[in-house]
Amino acid sequence: MLVDLDNIVIRGLLSNLVGEEGMNVVLKMPEEEVTDEDVAIVTEVPLNIVRRTLYILFENRLATYRRERNKDSGWLTYLWKVDLSGTNELLENEMNKLLNNLKLKLDFEEDNMFYICVNNCGRFVFNIVAETEYLCPSCGEEVIFEDNEKVKQSMRKRIQELQNN
Ligand SMILES: [Zn+2]
Repeated sequence: MLVDLDNIVIRGLLSNLVGEEGMNVVLKMPEEEVTDEDVAIVTEVPLNIVRRTLYILFENRLATYRRERNKDSGWLTYLWKVDLSGTNELLENEMNKLLNNLKLKLDFEEDNMFYICVNNCGRFVFNIVAETEYLCPSCGEEVIFEDNEKVKQSMRKRIQELQNN
């Protein structure tokens, strides 16, 4: 396995996907193909959570399964295998999503002027408060101009950091 499960970013990513109990499945999952019931026994995680976890991993291409028909009973058995080698790709996708999101937010900050209500009802763009003659649309109190230079600066810094990664 080429995935460093001690890496805090990778661990965070997986833990976000499968949750805390699901992480026990990820960490204690046997190497060979196993049924979900076997996973539950080995990992001591409740079966419903094991199933949920395996399904989430499957959806994110971090697990595969194979169906096998029992010759005697005719029942289908699902044999699962976790393969975390796609984690790095997943991480990259998540980072790109985050980066694009931040860029959109920065664009919005750069394209707008912001006003905040003196009662802290919220933050409004110019178009909104221009219509209400600079009164808060929700409580009717005055709104004051907010200099968002610091906000923009910290966004730019964060974008820079993510791009350097
Ligand atoms: Zn208000």
